Amino acid sequence: MKNPPFNYHRPATVDEALALLATYGDEAKVLAGGQSLLPIMALRLGRPEHVVDIGTIADLKQTNTADGVTFGAMVRHAEAEKSPEVARHAPLVAAALPHVGHRAIRNRGTVVGSIAHADPAAELPAVCLAAGATMTIASSRGTREVQADDFFEGYFSTAIEPHELLTQVHFPRWSETAGGSVVEISRRHGDYAMVGLACVADVQNGAIARAALSFFGVSSKPVRVTEAEEALVGKPPTEEAFAEAAAIVGRVLEPGGDIHATTQYRRHIAQVLTSRGLTEATSRIGELT
Ligand SMILES: Cc1cc2nc3c(=O)[nH]c(=O)nc-3n(C[C@H](O)[C@H](O)[C@H](O)COP(=O)(O)OP(=O)(O)OC[C@H]3O[C@@H](n4cnc5c(N)ncnc54)[C@H](O)[C@@H]3O)c2cc1C
Repeated sequence: MKNPPFNYHRPATVDEALALLATYGDEAKVLAGGQSLLPIMALRLGRPEHVVDIGTIADLKQTNTADGVTFGAMVRHAEAEKSPEVARHAPLVAAALPHVGHRAIRNRGTVVGSIAHADPAAELPAVCLAAGATMTIASSRGTREVQADDFFEGYFSTAIEPHELLTQVHFPRWSETAGGSVVEISRRHGDYAMVGLACVADVQNGAIARAALSFFGVSSKPVRVTEAEEALVGKPPTEEAFAEAAAIVGRVLEPGGDIHATTQYRRHIAQVLTSRGLTEATSRIGELT
């Protein structure tokens, strides 16, 4: 299907991109990898008058691994997937990437684009929440930082204003005593998840010191189940502790129902994934050190 007509802009620098976004405001859309925006336009679900293609801005193509991992807005999924540095310093991102669509999509799509797009069934927004990522948002008026907890607002909705650009996303240094996993149930590999979980367990002196359980595909945005996380703290990483956390998830989580899965089925999957995710996460502790 052909796209509707639009004005195409290809800024060479971040400043040029910000000037275009300031001029056109909510008539403009940023184009990164185009793996979501172009289908949306082709299906007439969105009709921006102006498309600002950031694909040639060299400053946005960097991955910095000095202190944790910082992804510039044009780092593609496939580049991050191949990087041993990303696997070492942002293992939760590395665990999520193979689940994101298909290889052809990951060859063009970007890590930051997935986060800006904020599909509630996408893996990377949930990873941001579990790993405590920080978003850098720029406009012609300056730059601000937003924590993942405050960034995702609802269905495809984030703290980014129409005149702003998400220039980078930073994942803090990974603890050597932590393990992480991304587990999900989808009909076919590469489909969006019916329910998924990004999971972190930091085990110190034989007991869980910190846990993060960040679910996707259950609500209008990724959600953490803090009651279950808190119940894990101080316990040894055993099957019993994981089963107890799963039972809490079953009581607390209120997933929506739709044509893909009922509320009851999603709740059941979420419980199964809690035990599975924690088992996998704790088995990975020390793998990369
Ligand atoms: C068949 C299919 C299956 C897929 N399966 C999955 C899946 O399982 N999991 C998953 O997570 N995704 C999936 N996707 C989506 C894919 O991962 C997209 O690539 C990703 O969601 C967006 O990244 P992009 O760089 O292509 O962004 P684009 O398509 O270029 O942009 C997406 C949206 O984000 C905005 N945006 C992008 N970058 C910025 C920025 N730096 N600042 C401000 N706004 C920005 C755009 O304006 C647009 O609104 C699938 C896509 C397809 C077509």
